Amino acid sequence: MRVLVLGGGGQVGRALDARAGAMGHDVYAFPRDGLDATDEAMLRAALETTGAQALVNAAAYTAVDRAESEPEAAHALNADAPGMHARVAADLGLAYLHVSTDYVFAGDGRVPHKESDPCAPRSVYGSTKRAGEVAAWRAGGRVAILRTSWVFAPWGNNFVRTMLRLAAARPELRVVDDQRGGPTSALDVADAIFRMLPKLADPAEAEATGLFHFQGRPAVTWAAFADAILDEGAKHGHPRPPVVRIATVDYPTPAVRPANSVLDCARYARVFDAAPPDWRLALPGAVAGLLGESKA
Ligand code: NDP
Repeated sequence: MRVLVLGGGGQVGRALDARAGAMGHDVYAFPRDGLDATDEAMLRAALETTGAQALVNAAAYTAVDRAESEPEAAHALNADAPGMHARVAADLGLAYLHVSTDYVFAGDGRVPHKESDPCAPRSVYGSTKRAGEVAAWRAGGRVAILRTSWVFAPWGNNFVRTMLRLAAARPELRVVDDQRGGPTSALDVADAIFRMLPKLADPAEAEATGLFHFQGRPAVTWAAFADAILDEGAKHGHPRPPVVRIATVDYPTPAVRPANSVLDCARYARVFDAAPPDWRLALPGAVAGLLGESKA
């Protein structure tokens, strides 16, 4: 399929570009300076020029803490734009896939969240992302919303990069051990999106629209994820300080994060006939890519 990607400069956007050929799709990935995801006229023109059959929104205001003091900017991109995208896609008869987040949940309890669980975001980022889900869905048409979490890649800003940077600068890393979630490779997110699009575009596939959870396995805490990152870095001779496990209350941030970010991915697995990926298989590539980049 011919796929237009918004947010082509981000972690997931770059992964979509990188994986398109292998997954048998033609991708036109536009970074922010090539196509502003809030600009309807530009979007319509780009869809026409490219002859796209599907639209994927990987653009978002992802600065979770900064969003607390910039709610209007977060709202424009995370809440208003997806509604506009879905409306344009429905108008043109295109499939629309929107990427969303575990932060739409309050994160109480220990049971993995199902798509049908009530949303109760605790941050501006989470509530604007939830508003975007609702707006996209209400626009009608062939819309899928893919919620993922803890995204990392061999590029971009992510927790893997942060841990490697801090490992080179500090004698120990203090990392929270009471938030649990599933690290997810952007490349795996891209593959999931490409797997979804043909069914999403097919009106005979009644099950392929709506909400889907997609997350790497196994679920871990941030501290356990940090240990895995530093172990992988050590294989490249990178410094390997110890990880000290701390509680969220000892690491205050402007935005409140969910304690339980574990997602139940059974619906995605059933409808698209694919198991959620093991993030440990993608971590070596991300660490090698990020360390290689810093040495270049
Ligand atoms: P990134 O922050 O890496 O990428 C987002 C991209 O959106 C950036 O390249 C940014 O450009 C771009 N962007 C910002 N404003 C606009 C605009 N007006 N028009 C077009 N592009 C714009 O995020 P990810 O790739 O990690 O996230 C992809 C999706 O996954 C998002 O929907 C996010 O909410 C979701 N998600 C991410 C998680 C994570 O851990 N990162 C976890 C769960 C869900 P610039 O760099 O120039 O600002």
